[in-house]
Amino acid sequence: MGKKVHDESDGNKTSNPKPVACLECVKPIQVFKRDEIKRGDHIKFHGRIYDHHAIVVDRIPSNDKDHKVTVEIVHASNTTAGAMYCCLRPFSSIAKLVRETKQINLKKMKVMVYKYSDTIFHFSPERIVERANTERSNPGFKYNLFNNNCEHFATHCVTGESLSLQVGKIRMIKRLFVNQGFQGISDEVLRNKILNEKGMLCTPCFLRNKQLLSVAKKPITSKDDLNIGDIITYKYYRCWHSAVVIDIKPHDSSLECKIAHYAFRGLHKHRKIREDTFRIPFNGTVKVTDFSNTKYTVYAQEEVVKRARRKLGEKRYVHFSNDSSHFARWCKLELY
Ligand SMILES: [Zn+2]
Repeated sequence: MGKKVHDESDGNKTSNPKPVACLECVKPIQVFKRDEIKRGDHIKFHGRIYDHHAIVVDRIPSNDKDHKVTVEIVHASNTTAGAMYCCLRPFSSIAKLVRETKQINLKKMKVMVYKYSDTIFHFSPERIVERANTERSNPGFKYNLFNNNCEHFATHCVTGESLSLQVGKIRMIKRLFVNQGFQGISDEVLRNKILNEKGMLCTPCFLRNKQLLSVAKKPITSKDDLNIGDIITYKYYRCWHSAVVIDIKPHDSSLECKIAHYAFRGLHKHRKIREDTFRIPFNGTVKVTDFSNTKYTVYAQEEVVKRARRKLGEKRYVHFSNDSSHFARWCKLELY
């Protein structure tokens, strides 16, 4: 808390401890629409053999379809992955850092944007662009630091340090939770604790999650307990499940709601964000998260509904920190 995130200068970085990026400090989120990619973003192209990382230094304005985007990127091309994207000889010395224009069809190509949380130092988007361009115009500048790794180049532009984002961790976590079954995984408080104990979640991220998960949930027992834009939690296939309320029709002993949520399609399958009708009885089995009297900034009711509606139909890859409650919080809170 109170940490300076957008530092405009490189400052006295040598005295800072080396940042440790845990699974949640830096999180890849798949993008589906043009406006989800911005100047200064660290993006990843998902490849069959290699993933390739780059910094977006510009996005070209366009009136084309939503899923088509043209970006200027700077990336390390003389890596094995870079060579596959640029048709260069692997480890060739022709071009190390290149700036190029790339047209992307987000329906055909899987592209992720890395979200850097406030638990890790990162520069402002403007500064990241500047850093990427400067590195490029000074070929060889600190280049040995990158160790021929396109991921290191991108994280260096964003944080000032070369980080390995360790995709393998996700597989380890799956193994960790296999014996716990659905319930273990759906209990976010428990999951948060185990991940921290096993060293996969850094302490600032653990504490941030813990605080977020401790926000009070009130049982719904009358029609006055719920508004549109609220997050509800209930048991769904014996797991705790969260949804965003987008419409309410009151009845005598229940509320007939339209909700937006991740539809359940099995642990290892994709889930899809969809709209469903859901009846809430006034017996307290369904709870509403109460963000009043907390430090969190919430969007206005109508804005929450709009945000939820905009995501309908989207598929996200199953990721342990990208589940039904994550979607609901994304709609509600000015956090992400
Ligand atoms: Zn962390």
